[in-house]
Amino acid sequence: MIPIARPLLGKEEIDAVTEIMNSGMIAQGPKVEEFELAFSGYTGCEYAVAVNSGTAALHIALLAHGIGKEDEVITSPFTFIATANSILYTGAKPVFSDIEPDTYNIDPEKIQEKITSKTKAIMPVHLYGHPADMKAIMEIAEDHKLVVIEDACQSHGAECLGKKAGSFGTGAFSFYPTKNMTTSEGGIITTNERRIAEKAKIIRAHGSKVRYLHEMLGFNMRMTDIAAAIGLAQLEKLDGFTVARQKNAAVLSAELQGISGVVPPVTKPGCTHVFHQYTIRANRRDELAAFLKEKGIGTGIHYPIPIHKQPYYTELGYRDSLPVSEKAADDVISLPVHPALSGDDVQRIVKETRGFYIND
Ligand SMILES: *Cc1c(COP(=O)(O)O)cnc(C)c1O
Repeated sequence: MIPIARPLLGKEEIDAVTEIMNSGMIAQGPKVEEFELAFSGYTGCEYAVAVNSGTAALHIALLAHGIGKEDEVITSPFTFIATANSILYTGAKPVFSDIEPDTYNIDPEKIQEKITSKTKAIMPVHLYGHPADMKAIMEIAEDHKLVVIEDACQSHGAECLGKKAGSFGTGAFSFYPTKNMTTSEGGIITTNERRIAEKAKIIRAHGSKVRYLHEMLGFNMRMTDIAAAIGLAQLEKLDGFTVARQKNAAVLSAELQGISGVVPPVTKPGCTHVFHQYTIRANRRDELAAFLKEKGIGTGIHYPIPIHKQPYYTELGYRDSLPVSEKAADDVISLPVHPALSGDDVQRIVKETRGFYIND
């Protein structure tokens, strides 16, 4: 079976974890700080604050910016549920704005009409590893004095106009095992604002800077040194992983281009796509998924139901019509693109996908 995702863990990660285990200091400690320094350097941000998940990173980023009750945050409905849930956790209201049909990212032209007197932030998602249109989004944010929190959970290393994803506003990354790099569970907040980094650190640890003195309601969202040690080893390999993903994607696109009923992903000018997912639009998507499964190839639907259509959100009263997202949810399927694929694996994916459309 060729899986849709698999982390690449080697001797470096095992040795790094062993070192921490032998030290006896296994919770948040100096490795977390080392990892924060390395990751902020990688993204070109002044500060990074490591936490225990990407969801926590989004949640803390919002709280650190003071977002809560009565506030609205504009985001994409076509993303993983955690994007919008992080907004709900703060008491604020997610406002969904439709996406671009080619990149599947929030469409800057549609954001304007969603802005109200309650809007505090825009939360673009760099979906599948392709950056959102950050030039346009930052301009809108500046015009309306809005905070920008980037959901960069799928876009480690992606660039927009020479700047890394997560470095335009406040960034939130995930290190879940399926992501472009992992710490097992884990996440990180990136920012150029010292006050946001400091507040994030306080929220991460029970609202406390000085032990047993609590200035606000915080959480236990700390990263462990075990996770940070894995992250340091993975960060060293990240650019290599990205090149492998891009190479696999290039082969897939060259071979799938021109099949009627298949639309390969695009990379917009000025963007680098890091292919967290290689996602196509495909006729008879569900049949293709079943066919490939039979042939031993795992696929994924990212995502089958836009967030405004999720049961919990309809219960909250969401009744939006967001046709581009709804169409994408019906059309998309992700094929394996991860760096653990061999050249033969990629050829098999091509052969079977072509076979599905061409032999019948
Ligand atoms: C993975 C992911 C998250 C959540 O990250 P976790 O580490 O699983 O909590 C949030 N947003 C997007 C777009 C993601 O892909």
